[in-house]
Amino acid sequence: MFDINNQSEEIKKILNYTSTDNLFISLYLEVDASKITKQDYLSKLNSMIVEKKSEIEKNPAISNLSRKNIIELFSKIKNYFNDYFRPEFVKTVLLFAGEDNTWMEIKLPINIRSKIIIDPKPHTQVLRTLMDSTIRYGILEIDREKAQIYLMYLGQIREGFAAFISEVPPQVKYRREGSDRESQQMGRIEVKLNQFFKIINEKLLSLFREGKIDTLILAGTKDIALQFKNYMSSGIQSKYIGYITSDTPFSSQSLKENALKLINQVETENKNNIVEKLLGEYIPTEWGVIGAENTIKYLMLDQVKILIYDSDFEIPGYVCEKCGYITINQQAGCPYCDGKMIYYNDITDEVIETALNQGCELIEIRENQRLKDAGNIGAVLRFKISV
Ligand SMILES: [Zn+2]
Repeated sequence: MFDINNQSEEIKKILNYTSTDNLFISLYLEVDASKITKQDYLSKLNSMIVEKKSEIEKNPAISNLSRKNIIELFSKIKNYFNDYFRPEFVKTVLLFAGEDNTWMEIKLPINIRSKIIIDPKPHTQVLRTLMDSTIRYGILEIDREKAQIYLMYLGQIREGFAAFISEVPPQVKYRREGSDRESQQMGRIEVKLNQFFKIINEKLLSLFREGKIDTLILAGTKDIALQFKNYMSSGIQSKYIGYITSDTPFSSQSLKENALKLINQVETENKNNIVEKLLGEYIPTEWGVIGAENTIKYLMLDQVKILIYDSDFEIPGYVCEKCGYITINQQAGCPYCDGKMIYYNDITDEVIETALNQGCELIEIRENQRLKDAGNIGAVLRFKISV
């Protein structure tokens, strides 16, 4: 009944891929509707493809067959983005297209500068970091007749873990209230409902134990959702973040939208707490830094644990064309490799990508005046600042 694109298995396959003779296109395309028009991302895509085509045509290590396959994949990609793709709330699309017919699109909730990488394996570092630092939300949709558990993360419903059919008999109306038959029937309903809850509770416990979900959202009619909330074990209670209800059964789309709304509320609260902790605890004890200059400096030293930045953060700077060293100050050459420093109007994407490649946790903050006033970007460090 639900149209879940069961992506977890596919993602695992991509992450565990071992290199073969087959080439892989890993495309990052920034499509964030708040920054970029369709025309802009399509023309960016075209120019990247033109550039990559000429590179592979010149590369003698690539076989004629692979060359032909990659060029075909490029036209497939172009057609897809021209005719079918809609950005909605996605910031960056990560698309893996392989000669072995792999075609996998992952919508990333984070801005990453557009690029194409062609290698004998998928480019997975960014995805790995995001998956490690993204909360896996379990959603239990429950009513009297049935229940289902879904996994939601990176903004999508990824997997349906389990479905249960309840044996709770339908509620029967009796002429007289309080009759013996009714109370007997009610007793049976209670017992069946308890059995139903017990099975679901155990399944949830095992999903938590196996690390398949980190938190729980309840979905369904209010009475049954709250009955289950009271029933569930304390271990689950502590991971429960809220419930979403609807008078009519959820469609796949409305379940996702309602869950996202709740997740946004909870995450906004958590994120604002982190800003408070950064400013109130980490910085005074020298376990944190604030402002672009210092944050980038410690990022370049590989010492950032959590990068915290405002969604509107933007700053011009310089990036070494050889080693990727980033600074906001003009310098004659790279202090590490003497490479040429290239000027960028905005180095945010480079900063974020460097952090992802280092495995930092990333926290994007919206509308937090304290962070804005403090310089829009800061970090919790892996080591205390040494003098
Ligand atoms: Zn350099």
